[in-house]
Amino acid sequence: MTVTQLSPAPTAESDLDALLLAQKKAALADPMPDHASRIRRLDKLHNAILDNRDRMIAACRADFSNRAAAETEMAEIGPVLEGIAYYRKRLKKFMKPQRRHTPLVAMPARVEVHYQPVGVVGIVVPWNFPFFLGLSPLVGAIAAGNRAMIKTSEYAPASGALMQEMLAEIFAEDEITVVTGGVEVATTFTKLPFDHLVFTGSTQVGKIVMRAAAENLTPVTLELGGKSPAIIHPDYPLDEAASRIGFGKGFNAGQICVSPDYVLCPRDKVDAFAAAFTKAMSRSYPSLRDNDDYTAIITDQQKARLESYLSDAEAKGANVIRINPKDEEFTGTRKMPLTIVLGATDEMLVMQEEIFGPILPILPYDTMDAALAYVHERPRPLALYYFDWDKARGDDILARTHSGGVCINDTVMHVGVDDMPFGGIGPSGMGHYHGEEGFRTFSKAKGVLRKGKINATAFVAPPWGNFMYRQLM
Ligand code: NAD
Repeated sequence: MTVTQLSPAPTAESDLDALLLAQKKAALADPMPDHASRIRRLDKLHNAILDNRDRMIAACRADFSNRAAAETEMAEIGPVLEGIAYYRKRLKKFMKPQRRHTPLVAMPARVEVHYQPVGVVGIVVPWNFPFFLGLSPLVGAIAAGNRAMIKTSEYAPASGALMQEMLAEIFAEDEITVVTGGVEVATTFTKLPFDHLVFTGSTQVGKIVMRAAAENLTPVTLELGGKSPAIIHPDYPLDEAASRIGFGKGFNAGQICVSPDYVLCPRDKVDAFAAAFTKAMSRSYPSLRDNDDYTAIITDQQKARLESYLSDAEAKGANVIRINPKDEEFTGTRKMPLTIVLGATDEMLVMQEEIFGPILPILPYDTMDAALAYVHERPRPLALYYFDWDKARGDDILARTHSGGVCINDTVMHVGVDDMPFGGIGPSGMGHYHGEEGFRTFSKAKGVLRKGKINATAFVAPPWGNFMYRQLM
C-alpha cells in the first residue's frame, strides 16, 4: 500500500476540502469494504498502538505536564484495544444483511436491511483523553467500512502530533487522516459536508457544531458534558461510597466527561462522608505535587477556571476543604488538590458550571424524592451514579431518572464497556457509539425490497375495479 500523506499537516480550508474530496472519491471506488479488509485496518491500528504505547504515555505526560502512566494505559490504550477485539469477534454478524417481514401487499418479495458504510466520518476530539476520544470513534467508523478524518485538540498538541504520525504511517491519506489545529481549523472542519460527524466536547461548542452540520444536513453524534450526580442511599456504607466516588474524581484529576460532578448525600451523613472521602483520597494520593499518580490540570487557564469556582464559593459562604495530606504548595505547578465544597448553592459557579476537575461539592438531601427532584430540575446528565445494595431501589432510580448512562455502586467504569452504547441525552449529547450501536451509527441502514419474476404488483395496480385494499389487511 502506498501512503501519500500531505506534508506539512493540512489545515487550510482548501486543504481540508481536497482531503475530504479525496476520501469521498476513494469511498466511491471501494464502496463496501469486505470483512477481511476492515479487520486488516483494525489490526494495523491495533499494532500501531502496541508499537507506540510508551510514546502515547509520554505524549499524554507532556500534554498534562504530568499524567499517570497507569491512567493513559487504562483510559487511552486499553479501551481502544478492547474495542478492536470486540469488533474482531462480532463484525461478521453486524455486517450481515438482516431479513425482515414482507407485508402481503409487497409479496412475493424478500425484504432486507443492508448496513452500508456512510462514506467519510469526521471526528472532532477534546483534550482530556486525546487518544481514546479520537481512536474509539475511529474504530467504530472503520468497522462499519468508512473512511475518516480526525481533528485533534489544540490543548493536547503532543498527543495530536503523535496520533497524526501513527495513523499516517499505516493509512493512506484518502483512507484515514488526522488534522491538527485550533478553533479556526475546527470551524472549517465542522463545516465540511461529511457523511457523519462525531463531536466530543463541551455542550456550548456542541451547539455551534450542530448548527454547522445542519447546513449540510450531516448527521451528528454529539458527545457532550454536564453535571453528573452521585446519589448515596442512607443505608450505603460511606467508606465504600467514598472510595468508589473518589476513583472517578481522582482519575485524570476529575478531567473526565463522566466524572461525578457532585454528591447528593443524606443530610445527617454529609460530614461523615466528607471525612471518609478525605481519608480515601489521602490513601490513594498520599502526596500530590511530585506524585506521578496524580495528574495535573491541562492548562493554566483551566486551572484558573477551577480556582475561580473555589474563590467564588468561598466568597459566597461555602466551606472549601482542600485535601492536601503533605501540606504542599501548588504555585508554579498545574496540579491542584482534590477539594470538597460543603454548603454549595445554586448561586455559586461550582453548581452552575460543569466542574471538569478535582472539585467535589457534597450537597445534603432529606428524602430520596427530594434528591431526585434536584436532579430533575437540572439538565439531563451524561452519567448518573447511585449507591445502594438494594436492587429493587436501584431499579426504581433507573426508571425515574434520565441520563446518558448509569453506574450502580461505582463511577466511570461503564465507559470502558464495549458491549453497550455510550452517549448522552439532551444537553449531554445525542446518538451513540461503542459496540453494536457504534457500528449502526456509522452505517446507513438501507431498506431493500427484492422482487422476483412474478409481477404481483399487477394485481394491485389500476384499473382498480372491485379491488379492495382493506381485504389485504
Ligand atoms: P471544547 O468543546 O472546547 O473543544 C472540543 C473540540 O472542539 C476541540 O477539538 C476544539 O478545537 C473544537 N472546537 C472549539 N471551538 C470550536 C468551534 N467554534 N467550532 C468547531 N469546533 C470547535 O471541549 P474541550 O475543552 O476540549 O473538552 C471538555 C469538554 O468536553 C467538557 O465539557 C467535557 O464534558 C466534554 N467531553 C465529553 C465527552 C463525552 O464522551 N461525552 C468526553 C470528553 C469530554
